[in-house]
Amino acid sequence: MPQLAQRVGRAKPSAIMVIAETAKQLKAAGRDIISFSIGVPNFLPGEHVYAAAREALSHDSGQYGSNRGSDALLDAFLKHIQALGFTGYGRMNLSIGIGAKQVLYNLAEALLNEGDEICFAAPYWTTYRDIADIVGAQANVLHCGPSQHYKLTPEQLDGALARRPKVFLFNNPSNPTGMVYTREEIAALAEVLAKYPDTWIVTDDIYNSMVFDGLGYHNFVFARPELRERLIFVDSVSKTYGMPGWRVGLIAGPESVAKAVTTLNSNHITSVPEVITAAAVAAFSGPQEIPQAKCREFAGKRDIVVAALANIPGLVCPRPQGAFYAFPDISAAFGKSHNGARIENDVDFCAALLGAKGVACVPGSAFGEPRAMRISYTCPTAQLEPGLARIAEFFAELS
Ligand code: PMP
Repeated sequence: MPQLAQRVGRAKPSAIMVIAETAKQLKAAGRDIISFSIGVPNFLPGEHVYAAAREALSHDSGQYGSNRGSDALLDAFLKHIQALGFTGYGRMNLSIGIGAKQVLYNLAEALLNEGDEICFAAPYWTTYRDIADIVGAQANVLHCGPSQHYKLTPEQLDGALARRPKVFLFNNPSNPTGMVYTREEIAALAEVLAKYPDTWIVTDDIYNSMVFDGLGYHNFVFARPELRERLIFVDSVSKTYGMPGWRVGLIAGPESVAKAVTTLNSNHITSVPEVITAAAVAAFSGPQEIPQAKCREFAGKRDIVVAALANIPGLVCPRPQGAFYAFPDISAAFGKSHNGARIENDVDFCAALLGAKGVACVPGSAFGEPRAMRISYTCPTAQLEPGLARIAEFFAELS
């Protein structure tokens, strides 16, 4: 028999999908399930996005488009990133992909040779590990536990960069922790980055529209403009505009990198469809009330989650300030039992919680932090308090 390629063996099925699938099956079997597992926004884009897509459909050329993204989309994205604080970028600094996920794969192919080192903080978005594995890069994972609010310190970064990794991958606001780096924290990390000119910097900041408490979104290039020549900013319409299924991601970075990604596109995807492009243009350049309202709504939900978790003895949750995730430390439950089921770790905890209380959360080990679990609070507000009450009950029943 011929064998599959080794890289397939290195790719693991997503732990998030495993929990979500179990929850779905229990629901289909009639169980009352509250799902805190999937990280997708619970809202649809504005009517102007659908109108633009319908209009584009009515005169779609049916042809291949630009490998880099259409000029209209690149111009809309330029305005969008300018509003975020990125100045001095032109079309040649940009390129497109089928969502931020595919953009990140393209970047890995563009920047990493087999055996090169890529470093990133844990907790991390699960796909970072998989990307490193698939392109055959060495991942140096920098553990940032609950006591440091899951945030990378300048000292940790300095230690990692002293090894001269090829790529430093950074995510702010964070999936899975909901942490947001302040202007001062970004500036302190940027100082360290400036010392190591041989490392590419990739900032995956697709939750940049969801920052609470007036913290604002900050990037290393705002603090240290010279980092622009080796920093790639990754964005997407998925979370900001409630468009995860439309699959549009973009980068802004040095021309050489944008060109490399565009060349890879010419081999991988050719282009993004015209209808989707028109929808993305409308999202970036149309009214921004929906993302703003959603940001306020998620901040309110965060308050509900944090207040409920604070009342559970033994559970510790650093306060999230962005995205739509909370990442409580559940390790106080390890070594205990629930209805005779022993809980040794986060996977046991999430399985027992789902089985006993019908609440689906994702084990932290999926994100490189086995002491915690991820709560995604995009569900309707009416499910939030009952779901959290069931977690509290579960904790209280541990012996
Ligand atoms: N980066 C992070 C941190 C994410 O959470 C996600 C989606 N869950 C992505 C990238 C991928 O987003 P997209 O839908 O644009 O592929």
